[in-house]
Amino acid sequence: MMLIPIHKEMTCEALSALVSSRALEVIVAANCKQDSPRGQLGHDEYHFDNSAIEEGLRYINEQRGFIMASLLSASAISAWIAFGRLTHTVQDFYAHTNYVSLWLDAHAQNDTLPAPPEIDPVQKSLIESPKLCSGRVYFPLDMLYFIPFLRKLSLALLPRDSHGWMNLDSPEQGSLFKYARFAAVKRTQYEFELLRNILTPEMFAKFIDL
Ligand SMILES: [Zn+2]
Repeated sequence: MMLIPIHKEMTCEALSALVSSRALEVIVAANCKQDSPRGQLGHDEYHFDNSAIEEGLRYINEQRGFIMASLLSASAISAWIAFGRLTHTVQDFYAHTNYVSLWLDAHAQNDTLPAPPEIDPVQKSLIESPKLCSGRVYFPLDMLYFIPFLRKLSLALLPRDSHGWMNLDSPEQGSLFKYARFAAVKRTQYEFELLRNILTPEMFAKFIDL
């Protein structure tokens, strides 16, 4: 539920120099589609909601599998779509879990915090930490949170472990948003580099389409 324009912006920023413009267009569309109403209900794994950490990680792996299978068989388009879905989920990871807070706790020197661009998006000990969790979606309060004039009221009623309190979906959420955004862009590029490493040169060329 990171705002759709932010998903689009981050994906373009991460990939525009790396894949063809038609590949980018398909990737961005598939990424943003995950936040449609149909992609919201009953799909915690798309967005790392409700502490669906394992499910989210499994979903990311499945998309990597789809990318490989698609490039082995027919067109690159289904590979781009799968990569779009994957990038959405990895981006939501930083906005919906407490990864950013855990990373800052681990790297703060006295009272000085590292700058947002320094965030390491894949610190294994944190991804595997038992402390990692994400916001719980409470119905219907977490839905009312999205209606601007009801936001204050819903926050007053929502528990602290809710999506409403925990999310880093937009700059309005304060100083931690910047860390989540840098982590999301870096992770998107990290996933691209991972494909470069696991695909054959022919499959990779088909994927980048340049
Ligand atoms: Zn989402």
